[in-house]
Parts: sequence; C-alpha cells; structure tokens
Amino acid sequence: MNKVFNLFRFALVSMALLLMLVGCGNDSAPVKLQGRAIGTTYSIVTYNLPENLDAHKMQQGVEQVVSGVNSVMSLFNPGSDLSRFNAYKGKDWFEVSRELALVVRTAKTISLLTGGAFDITVAPLVNLWGFGSDGRPDKVPSDEQVAAAKADIGADFVQVRIDPPALKKTKPGISIDLAAIAKGYCVDAVADWLKQNGVSDFMVEIGGEIRTGGTKPGKAPWVIGVEKPTPGGRSVQAVIELSGRAMATSGDYRNYFEAGGKRYSHIIDPVSGKPVSHNLVSVSVVEETCSMADALATGLMVMGPEQGIRLAKKNKLSAFFIVKTVDGFAETATGNFPEHKTLK
Ligand code: AMP
Ligand code: MG
Repeated sequence: MNKVFNLFRFALVSMALLLMLVGCGNDSAPVKLQGRAIGTTYSIVTYNLPENLDAHKMQQGVEQVVSGVNSVMSLFNPGSDLSRFNAYKGKDWFEVSRELALVVRTAKTISLLTGGAFDITVAPLVNLWGFGSDGRPDKVPSDEQVAAAKADIGADFVQVRIDPPALKKTKPGISIDLAAIAKGYCVDAVADWLKQNGVSDFMVEIGGEIRTGGTKPGKAPWVIGVEKPTPGGRSVQAVIELSGRAMATSGDYRNYFEAGGKRYSHIIDPVSGKPVSHNLVSVSVVEETCSMADALATGLMVMGPEQGIRLAKKNKLSAFFIVKTVDGFAETATGNFPEHKTLK
C-alpha cells in the first residue's frame, strides 16, 4: 500500500479546535492545563478555581484520573483490565473494574441502537485493515481474510455485569477495543473529577472530544468549533455554543490510507468487514456525556449519510453530518444540535 496518511492517529483533532475562543471579550484570566492522555493529548480550561485548589493540584488530580483510565482501558498496557480480559480465553465471568463494566455497557447500548454499526469487538478487522497495533498490510486484504476476521466479531458475544463488575465472552476469540469510546469516557472522568472538586465552569478536551460545564465568566457560553473535514489544514466548518454538554466527532478525513487510487478509512463497517466507503465525511454528536457522544458519532459514521441521518432523526439525536458533494460539503443537523454558524 502506498501513501499512508495516518496522521497522528490519536493526536488528531486537538482541534475540535481549541478554538474554544478562550477568554474572548472578558478579562478574567483562564487557567489552562495540557498533557497527554490515552495516546493523545488533553487540554482543560477553567476560570475561578475554588480556594483549596490551584493549577498544580488540579493537574495532579487530572493526571491521576487519566492514568486510572489508562490502567483500566489501555491496550498498550498488558496489565490493564481490558488487556487481561482480551487475553483470557475462558467463558466464565471475568472480574473487571466498575469503570470498564460501565463503559462496555454503554458501548453495547450504542451497538444495539445502531444495529451493530458501532461494535467494540471490531478489532480483528481494524487490525486486518492496518489501523491497529499490527501496522499496515502490504496489500488490500482478500475477501477470505475479511471473512475469517469477521468470525470473531459481534458485540453480542460479550456480556456485562455491573454488580459485582465483570465481563464474559461467549466466544473465546472475542476481544474488545475501546478506541471509539475511550476518549469520550476519559473526558467524562475528568469532568466528574473537576465537578467533585468544586470546579463548575470548565472545558475539557481529549483528542478532539469535548465536554463543558457551566459558562465562561459573565455567563458567556463556551464556543466550540466543528472541524472542516479536510486532511490538510485545520480549519473550522462551524461553531456552536455548548454549555453543560459534550460533543464528539468521528470522521474519515484524517486517518486513512490510499491504495490503487482508492481511499480506505479507519472506520470499519462490521457488516461488510470493510472500511466505510460512502460520502459522509464527519459526524459530530452532542450528548450529556462524552462517552455517549463518542460512541454515537462513530456509529453514525459507520451507518453513512442516509441510514445515519434517518436513525438520528428517528431517535432525536443531536447530530451534525457533513457530507462531501461535488463542489464542497453539505451539512445536516438533527435533533437539538445547537444552532450553528457555518464558517466559509
Ligand atoms: P472514532 O475516532 O471515535 O470514530 O473511533 C475510530 C476508531 O474506532 C478506529 O480507529 C478503530 O480503532 C475503531 N473502530 C473502527 N470501526 C469501528 C466500529 N464499527 N465500531 C467501533 N469502533 C470502531
Ligand atoms: Mg467515537
């Protein structure tokens, strides 16, 4: 396969554009933190820290939350709950942390809602198509290889128990990859920590997935950018006000490779077993939690423009679809997606 455009698999969207126009038009100085989290970067902006918290303490607290999520969900850490569950080939309940059980439960809910388009057991296909830890294949996989990888896929083969928290696989080959929901989950975990520690006005962003609490000073709303879905520059397609909610984006415009003049996306349709090949280039979803937004954005991205928009309308999901047209992009907003301003 030739040209690889796998531009920063995770560090992607640091964009959803720290566009958040921090500090515009008011004179209270923001407290900004940045660091690394689950294979990408995080940034946090807040104003008015409570008395018992300074920026240093806040960073320590956030780092602890982030490393907690890593130790549970990272596949780069062989000792994480998730890696250990994947390595386990038995059929008994396997004890995991409550966090992992909850996130897998959310993932299964979204699988059901999207008719299996969102599927955290899709890893064998992600690897086969060269977007996993195994690196790129040197040619496009054959139908036989795709069929073989599909045999070990299906969210129904994973069961979840919350109390006491445990996971179970009913097929030994099943493994879980939370790449499409973990960033959102981590955003929620950091937001919860901030709220528990008295920080009510905040913006948390991890790898482009965002959640805000409260407002900026003077009750000014947080303003967030939806990225223009082009591989090159990082510019803004639209801006929205987002207070007390989360927004996550899934797109196929950054992480892909080209072979034989065709583009292969990192978003895989578990039914065809192949990268999606429709003209929907990005979906942003606004939800209460970033885990839900993250999973839904990926699920709708798999479903494509017709089915995805239909599902979003039917279920009143607040989503923003950007579809490639012959002369640019067409936008469709569904549900209560915030009123947005398109930038040219
Ligand atoms: P996101 O950027 O949140 O849309 O997540 C994309 C990542 O999720 C990909 O790089 C794959 O690792 C994984 N993935 C690909 N296809 C699917 C799918 N159908 N369901 C769940 N995860 C997927
Ligand atoms: Mg996602």
